[in-house]
Amino acid sequence: MEQTKFLLNESDLPTTWYNIAADLPNLPPPPLHPGTGKPIGPDDLAPLFPMELILQEVSTDASIPIPPEVLEALSLYRPTPLIRARRLEQALDTPAKIYFKYEGVSPTGSHKPNTAIAQAYYNRQEGVKRLTTETGAGQWGSSLAFATRLFGLECKVYMVKISYEQKPYRKALIETYGAEILPSPSTTTQAGRAILEKDPYSPGSLGIAISEAVEEAVGREDTKYSLGSVLNHVLLHQTVIGQEALKQMELAGDFPDVVVGCVGGGSNFAGLAFPFLREKIHGKDIDFLAVEPASCPTLTKGELRYDFGDTAELTPLTRMYTLGHQFVPAAIHAGGLRYHGSAPLVSQLLEDGLIRAQAYTQLKTFESAVLFARTEGIVPAPESGHAVHGAIEIARQAKEEGKTRTILFNLSGHGYFDMSAYTNYLAGNLVDHELSDAEVKNCLAEMKTPLD
Ligand SMILES: *Cc1c(COP(=O)(O)O)cnc(C)c1O
Repeated sequence: MEQTKFLLNESDLPTTWYNIAADLPNLPPPPLHPGTGKPIGPDDLAPLFPMELILQEVSTDASIPIPPEVLEALSLYRPTPLIRARRLEQALDTPAKIYFKYEGVSPTGSHKPNTAIAQAYYNRQEGVKRLTTETGAGQWGSSLAFATRLFGLECKVYMVKISYEQKPYRKALIETYGAEILPSPSTTTQAGRAILEKDPYSPGSLGIAISEAVEEAVGREDTKYSLGSVLNHVLLHQTVIGQEALKQMELAGDFPDVVVGCVGGGSNFAGLAFPFLREKIHGKDIDFLAVEPASCPTLTKGELRYDFGDTAELTPLTRMYTLGHQFVPAAIHAGGLRYHGSAPLVSQLLEDGLIRAQAYTQLKTFESAVLFARTEGIVPAPESGHAVHGAIEIARQAKEEGKTRTILFNLSGHGYFDMSAYTNYLAGNLVDHELSDAEVKNCLAEMKTPLD
């Protein structure tokens, strides 16, 4: 019998994080202070983050040790499996080999606890009592709720209102872990009230929810803020995924020539891709594909420039591909991919041609996600469905060209809290939203920062 799952022991857990900043041909330019337009220093970030995370944010050391307490918490679900999708290959009748790294085995069903655990740990080490955060589809909120509970911190989650209404079970999960949760925009912050005054029926957005969580953290001595994607230290914490996958591909006696991930802020893509990008930078020929929704095409249609991370213009300005911090994406089901910007590190890699990006519409990604469920059994998160679709497209192309290819993609999470999206898809109720070039042009034209 041919092997399907490639598993590691707990003793194979990586003991350091891989910091791609050490190997990049070009570092992304530094974040800027929105008031002065000058690069921000550690002190500017201190109201938001513990110092150890700020140091990781700017570190250029190639490897950063994972604290033993963090490793112990990660060992609740790591190492995660690497699986050869043989039944999917057969269904596609493709000469390509398809492997996926499955992050859905974590307690909250996605890759997000990989950084939530590390962030909760460093905050507790520095005496922080409470964390605030935002969540889109609820994956991040439930991951931080879980991680703060492990380390004895309180947690308050601002959840994008449309998702709060669409995903009651994520809310229940967050409350089960003992965190507090509010729909955003809320009336408890200035940022939320300002939005509600203009639009009482605002569906919310990640940008708005970030503004609310940041405002509360800055206003309270005992509270800091935690972000589930985009920042360098978040991408760093996710590199356990790719480091494990490198060992597992070796167990499989194989090596990928294409690595695929979906991109919201960029953390699960980075987590799988960065350790393989180190190989590429040192000479290996590997193709990297970042997949995003056509309704929020940050990497494929956005502009590379300095922009705010949030709607209320409270965060530092970072240089990234962006559709503009005022952009409110259509309410597609892949809530975790509805962010106007993307990680500065991922943006830099795209600018330098080390990775490429592709946008797909909602219906195609669900079609692929359903094919995946019917062959491999796991129902992908709608976000992960984008990576599944990217991998399937490459496998189909391999068939057309009669070439073998070895594809590795990140199945960043399962979709068992997203079944209403599948119900809607199967009933034919989902529609495609593609942001037209004219709409993109309008968004970009409206974007204003203090640098303009
Ligand atoms: C949050 C989320 C994403 C998107 O976020 P990234 O930071 O780009 O990884 C993708 N997949 C799942 C399952 C998520 O929960």
